[in-house]
Amino acid sequence: MENKVRVRFAPSPTGALHIGGVRTALYNYFFARKNNGKFILRIEDTDQARFVSGAEAYINETFAWLGIQPDEGIGYGGEFGPYKQSERKDLYKKYADILIAEGKAYYAFDTPEELNAMRQRLKEAKADNQVYDSLSRETMRNSLTLSKEEVDELIKSEAAYVVRLKVERDEVVSLDDMVRGEVKVSSNNIDDKVLMKSDGMPTYHLANVVDDHLMRVSHVIRGEEWLPSAPLHVLLYKYLGWSDTMPQFAHLPLLLKPDGNGKLSKRDADKHGYPVFPLEWEDPKTSEKSMGFREQGYLPQAITNFLAMLGWNPGTEQELFTMEELIDNFSIERINKSGSKFDIDKANWFNQQYLKNIDNEVLADDFLKLLKSKGVEFSASKAAAVCGLLKERVIFPQEFWTSGRYFFYPPGEYDQKVIRKKWNDEAKEILVDYKNALKKIDTLTKESALETLNEVLAQHEAGMGRVMPALRVSITGVAGGPDLMGILEVLGRDEVVERIETALNKIVK
Ligand code: GLU
Repeated sequence: MENKVRVRFAPSPTGALHIGGVRTALYNYFFARKNNGKFILRIEDTDQARFVSGAEAYINETFAWLGIQPDEGIGYGGEFGPYKQSERKDLYKKYADILIAEGKAYYAFDTPEELNAMRQRLKEAKADNQVYDSLSRETMRNSLTLSKEEVDELIKSEAAYVVRLKVERDEVVSLDDMVRGEVKVSSNNIDDKVLMKSDGMPTYHLANVVDDHLMRVSHVIRGEEWLPSAPLHVLLYKYLGWSDTMPQFAHLPLLLKPDGNGKLSKRDADKHGYPVFPLEWEDPKTSEKSMGFREQGYLPQAITNFLAMLGWNPGTEQELFTMEELIDNFSIERINKSGSKFDIDKANWFNQQYLKNIDNEVLADDFLKLLKSKGVEFSASKAAAVCGLLKERVIFPQEFWTSGRYFFYPPGEYDQKVIRKKWNDEAKEILVDYKNALKKIDTLTKESALETLNEVLAQHEAGMGRVMPALRVSITGVAGGPDLMGILEVLGRDEVVERIETALNKIVK
């Protein structure tokens, strides 16, 4: 039991899950599965002011979409619950009280004005640290400077107070991060962080440490933005007497803006049109609707693979990994130290790779629904054929519709460049003979379409290149596209003949 791997994903339900959060969840999940461990989902909702309802459902929906199955946690059971911090208030208070009783934490009664005045004072005195710490605490109103009677009186009179950690001076706090290596700081640079807020809620720091301990978390795998807090957490483990079972830390590299300039923010993700949550999410703070990856047509396997490679490398050239392969290959040692650029082109590339490997019939299932919503009746076999023709050329499934409109509607206009260059008397004559020859065919297949074309071309002693662009533009209206004979087969004889006739009548040059 003692050596068991237990990891957790501990989001704060303060809004849509950030792409970095999804990556953190995945790495924790890979690590748990690889090591036959447990993956815990814990909701860190102690910041009441920033709470956003619906954020929790959002997380569950993301997990379901990506195929992440927590072993324990809110909605998943487990023996270390409750897994929502707002339901564990008594526990945090208990440990805060123990720290106070042992002289490792204290009450502080300072008002916001007093705190401001302190910072101002320190600024004017050009102090290195303008914070509440082992030096400045001496000048403040707390249970270290006030008499016991005064403190009792203040508490009795329900004066607002917080509980602060009493950080001792001149200690070297060190930790061996599994990604970043040794991190060492002097306790003189750690301030007396608030552990319990005046609303009776714990801060992130206390709740996080207490829960990781009580939930027997073995490894804390989280974003690099938490690395500066890690020494404080190490101190908390020490003061609580839990150093022996302190989890190992692994801080994941930052996700950088697409141009590599600085950290990717939620706002960037939105701005680039790639918010991170696979739901159409209306941000209650801004009432802005944003599309998630799922709605944009990304496949969960592609996003999983993309995020897996954003900060981790397998040490080989392999790029495409199934979830099982990621689990098999994952190791914390192969997490990169430096930040990773969030390159959406790469995500698109992954999507393409996965899309083209899906069976046409499977793609057609969804595509038929899309067609129905557009009022288009189409047979399942033809829908599958369209998917088959287009899937190598598109990134998203919805492009079967947007790029493939000519399968459902005759062209409204014709590419003028093709007409200028390739629409000539010879091409027109061949087209006339071709459509007349097609009329004699019972069922048009791509083979019979090609055979007939070759016969007509032979009569004209002309090569393919003489008529192909004109034929394509007559049928589709555009210059490029998938195998033209395949398109003809999907359209069927009568439609093809009609489109050629229309083009011959309509295109004037
Ligand atoms: N609640 C923190 C967050 O939202 C968790 C950080 C951690 O994993 O310790 O990122």
